[in-house]
Amino acid sequence: MRSVRFRDSVPRGCDEIEWYTDLRLPNVTNIQERTLALFQQTGAYLNGHFRLTSGLHSPEYLQCALVLQHPQHAEELGRHLAAALRKLEPMRNIDAVVSPAMGGLIIGHEVARALNARHIFTERVDGKMTLRRGFAIKPGETAVVIEDVITTGGSSVEVIQLLKSVGVRVVGAGSIIDRSGGRADLGVPRVALAVMNVVTYDPSVCPLCAQGSQVVKPGSRASV
Ligand SMILES: [Zn+2]
Repeated sequence: MRSVRFRDSVPRGCDEIEWYTDLRLPNVTNIQERTLALFQQTGAYLNGHFRLTSGLHSPEYLQCALVLQHPQHAEELGRHLAAALRKLEPMRNIDAVVSPAMGGLIIGHEVARALNARHIFTERVDGKMTLRRGFAIKPGETAVVIEDVITTGGSSVEVIQLLKSVGVRVVGAGSIIDRSGGRADLGVPRVALAVMNVVTYDPSVCPLCAQGSQVVKPGSRASV
C-alpha cells in the first residue's frame, strides 16, 4: 500500500530538503538512500581518493551522467523530484521546467514529463545565460528550475534571474544532489533528493595523501 507522509506545513528554503526525506514510498524507505544507491550501482558515486578538476583532492567523486545514462533511473529520479516540487505549488499547474545546459538537460526533461510540463533549457552566450533555439516563456507562466547537482547554485540562480526578468513566476528549484550541505540559497524554495557535504583538501594537506594512498583522476579507468 502506498503511504506518503509529509509534514503538515511546507517549510521555506533549505528545510525543504529535510522535509522531502520524510517521504515514504512502498519500496523506498528513504529517498536519499535510494538516490545514493542508484549512484553507487552505476559507478556515479565513488569513495576513495580522487583528484577533482579543480586540483583539490576528495574522498568522494560524483558523476551524474553515469546514473542518468540509464533512462529508467532518470525517469525515477525525475518522478521523485516532481513529487517534491508539486508540494511547493499544489494549486497551480507548473507550465515549464527550465534547466541550464548541459547538466540539467536529462533530469529536467524527466521532471517535466512527471509534471506534464514542457522542458526548455538555457545556454550561455558570451557568458550570459540565454534562451535560444526559439524557446520562449511568457510573463505569468509558472516555472521550476532543475539541475543535476547544486554546489553553489550559481547556474540555477542565473536561470531564476532570467525568468524573473521576463515576469515568469518561479515556484522553486530542484536538484538530484545538493553538494552544499543544504547551504546554497537560490532565493526560491528548493528541493533535493540527496544532500551531501563534499569534503575537499588541498593536496599539500590531504590526509589521504598523508596515509600514502594513491590519488586517482576520476574517469581515468579503462572503459569496458
Ligand atoms: Zn590526496
